Formats: sequence, structure tokens, C-alpha cells
Amino acid sequence: KIRSVAIYGKGGIGKSTTTSNLSAALADMGKRVIQIGCDPKSDSTNNLRGGRSIPTVLDAIRSGKPVELDDIVYEGFGGVLCIEAGGPEPGVGCAGRGIIAAIELLRQKKVFEEYKPDVVLYDVLGDVVCGGFSVPIREGVAEQVYTVTSADFMAIYAANNLFKGIQKYASSGGALFSGIIANSVTLPVQREIIDDFASRTGTTIAEYVPRSDTITRSELLGQTAIEYDPDSTQAEVYRSLARTLLKNEERYVPKPLEAAELKVWAESWSDRLLTKKNDARSGSGSR
Ligand code: ADP
Ligand code: SF4
Ligand code: MG
Repeated sequence: KIRSVAIYGKGGIGKSTTTSNLSAALADMGKRVIQIGCDPKSDSTNNLRGGRSIPTVLDAIRSGKPVELDDIVYEGFGGVLCIEAGGPEPGVGCAGRGIIAAIELLRQKKVFEEYKPDVVLYDVLGDVVCGGFSVPIREGVAEQVYTVTSADFMAIYAANNLFKGIQKYASSGGALFSGIIANSVTLPVQREIIDDFASRTGTTIAEYVPRSDTITRSELLGQTAIEYDPDSTQAEVYRSLARTLLKNEERYVPKPLEAAELKVWAESWSDRLLTKKNDARSGSGSR
């Protein structure tokens, strides 16, 4: 049985970093992994391949020649099979429909029957859960959904929108939610904010991933932390997330906040942050 997982999140929040480290950790544990980049940026798998981009599925389709598996599937670190859906030519066409075309081609080519993976990870841009970007949730493509978010409001806003998308398709066989991956969590208050958002939306936290200099350095070499520094604490965080992902059977419909509720929630945190800051000031002043 293939475990197929979609990892959503706002652009730049750390989806590809998280997903490629997960893939590398899973491969290290002996799992057969396929990672599919579903972001027009097409750099999901770069850090599994020395920082180099691979040709995309859409490029292969656009070439007009018959597409072979070798044209779209490339091996990366630990034998992870890397695929990039690709995007439209800049300024032309619909990025969402590109993902639809790519997933359709993977089906036609029987990629999963051919490679028999244990785990398939879809790294999906989730700023807008529009027609195209919701495909991995909708059509029984992925079964479990995670979201990467930081404590920043816009990232949480995107996660809340994703929850709305999951809720919409849940009754018609759509993928269900399995947990939040809290990224770039360094300060206790960042953890508190994400925990609070999770409890308000009836969701769970799969892992807290700290912001890490190991990631900054490994990325400069086009590597994951698993490859660059397997003994680092950051690599262990991703291995822990990988173990969670393999055993996590939680699948549920999140309870997204309405726009007005989300605004009130955000404002309440603004007040709390200000109070904390003032407390800290008066605390140091009294000494
Ligand atoms: P996305 O795929 O969501 O667009 P990326 O994974 O490409 O985002 O990450 C964006 C940037 O943030 C990258 O430069 C990446 O190295 C950095 N980054 C992400 N997560 C971390 C982390 N936990 N620690 C340090 N840097 C991070
Ligand atoms: Fe395409 Fe619609 Fe998404 Fe725009 S919103 S990228 S048109 S699927
Ligand atoms: Mg990315």
C-alpha cells in the first residue's frame, strides 16, 4: 500500500525544504520514495540533486515528442525518484492546469505501478487553493494532507484556506488532514501561536521544526540536512517527522476559521504579544 501525502503551504514557507528532507530521511530508512514538485517554481527536488533542476513534466508534454518515463523521472539522493510538474511559460497560461496535466500523465504512464513506491510526497503550492492547486486533494490523488506553516499570519492564513479546501472536498472522497508541520519555530511564543491556531481549528501538530543554520548551509550546497550533516539535530528532527509520517493514521476534516474569526484571533495575539513585551520591559526595569 502506497502512502500518498500532499504537503501544502504558502510560497517560501519551507515546503520544499521540509519535503526533500523528509524524502531523504525516508530513503535513509530504506523506503522507496517519489517526490513530486507541484509548484510552478519547479525547484522542489533540487536539494536532492546537488542543487540542479530537472526537466519538468510540462516541458516534456510541450516538446510534442512522445514522453518516456526517463524524460520525467530522475533519481536523487538515496534513490529518491524526483519529478517536477512544472509551470506555464511566465505570464502565459494557468499554473493550476499544469498540475492537472502532469498528474494525468503520471497516471497514464503508470508511474506508481512501475516504481512501486512506499511513499509518494506531493510538494504543493498552497497560497491559493484554486481549481488547479486543489487537484492533489480532490481526485483521490493524495490521501493525507499536511501543511507547513510558521507563526507568521500570512502563513497561517494560507493554512486556514487549505483547511477550507479540504472541508469542501472531504464529503466527495477528497484527502483528509493529518497534521501541521510547524516550521521555523525558534521562540516559545511562535510555538504558542501555532498551538493556539491548531486548537482553534481542531488540528494537530505533527512536528516542530526549528529554524536552523544547518539548513542554510546545506541548501548552499544543494543538499538536504540528511545528506550534509546526518548527525545534526536538524537531521534528527526530519527523521522524527519521517517516523511520524509513516505511522500517522490520523485523517480528519479541520475546522477552518471564518474570515472574521481569523481576524479577531490575529488581533488577540497582537494584544498578547504587546503585553508580553511590556512585561519583559518592566521585568528588567525592576532589577
Ligand atoms: P517553499 O518550498 O515553501 O517555497 P523553501 O523550502 O524553498 O520554501 O524555503 C524557502 C527558504 O527558507 C529557503 O531558502 C530555505 O532554505 C529556508 N528555510 C526553510 N525552512 C528553514 C528552516 N527550518 N531553517 C532555515 N531555513 C529554512
Ligand atoms: Fe489556473 Fe484557476 Fe488556478 Fe488560476 S486559479 S492558476 S486559472 S486553476
Ligand atoms: Mg518550494
